[in-house]
Amino acid sequence: MAAQLIREWTAIQQFPAATQEKLVDLLSKLKNQNVSTLTILVIGKSGVGKSSTVNSIIGERVVTVSAFQSETPRPVMVSRSRSGFTLNIVDTPGLVEGGYVNDQVLDTIKSFLGRFLLNKRIDALLYVDRLDAYRVDNLDKQVVKAITDSFGKEIWHKALVVLTHAQLSPPDGLSYEEFFSKRSESLLKCVRQGAQISKKNAQSFAIPVALVENSGRCNKNESDEKILPTGSPWIPNLVHMITDMALNGKDGILVDKKLIEGPNANDRGKIFIPVILAFQYLFVIKPIQKWIKDDVARETKPSWA
Ligand code: GDP
Ligand code: MG
Repeated sequence: MAAQLIREWTAIQQFPAATQEKLVDLLSKLKNQNVSTLTILVIGKSGVGKSSTVNSIIGERVVTVSAFQSETPRPVMVSRSRSGFTLNIVDTPGLVEGGYVNDQVLDTIKSFLGRFLLNKRIDALLYVDRLDAYRVDNLDKQVVKAITDSFGKEIWHKALVVLTHAQLSPPDGLSYEEFFSKRSESLLKCVRQGAQISKKNAQSFAIPVALVENSGRCNKNESDEKILPTGSPWIPNLVHMITDMALNGKDGILVDKKLIEGPNANDRGKIFIPVILAFQYLFVIKPIQKWIKDDVARETKPSWA
């Protein structure tokens, strides 16, 4: 399968010189810390720009982008290497289908990770959504909860919220910075609720937010780098944040049997045993006892009585 193929990261040369320089710096910073692999998991609802973001980071069109239906029916891993350093990015199908969280997608992602990254670690989770959305709802919370149930709360120590469509004009009366801070704060609040991170622990789960503009119409600076409305070049910024995440002192999420099969896979359902026993007692044993008793009472009377 193509997922195992590690190609030379030649597309890095497609970036403007200024971006290349920053990326090479970041890679050597990782190598100096003895980090020779970076594995990134990209997750989120459908159509939010996950695949586009993967393509933007790699610098070439490696995964399918679609304006309409989710075109990533199963996870795809893109691996690129450059002077002894390997970058793995796992693009995944959208987690929401028909207004519900599709748990099967999460299972597919986990079995994919088990096949291609067993005993390796996920160094960063990119939780992708759009900047130009105005509300978060219960579904968002459920997506976060499903990720948390699947990968454990710890994954949020390695998470970066990525907001695409960052080149926008905020609604009247709000500056870009105000809009960004309101949108990211409401999304982060939703993440903390979905992941059940208490206010007390919010500090230790400080989740950074990165802005992304995948469109070919993204503005550029004089060095030809794609920039945000704030003027900062977003590709090196994003890779910088991912690098910081990898080096934040917390262990990456280990892809082991326990993660793939879930905790105590064999014990699943054991919690139902008391319920089943109670049900049997109340609705099976008790009625039978009553019938027997009634029957006995009837039998002891002589038939002529
Ligand atoms: P995915 O389903 O999350 O993988 O989303 P895709 O990457 O396939 O993107 C869905 C649609 O949104 C495509 O038409 C993309 O061209 C578009 N898109 C993705 N990211 C951006 C972005 O940052 N800005 C703009 N303007 N469009 C984007
Ligand atoms: Mg996609």
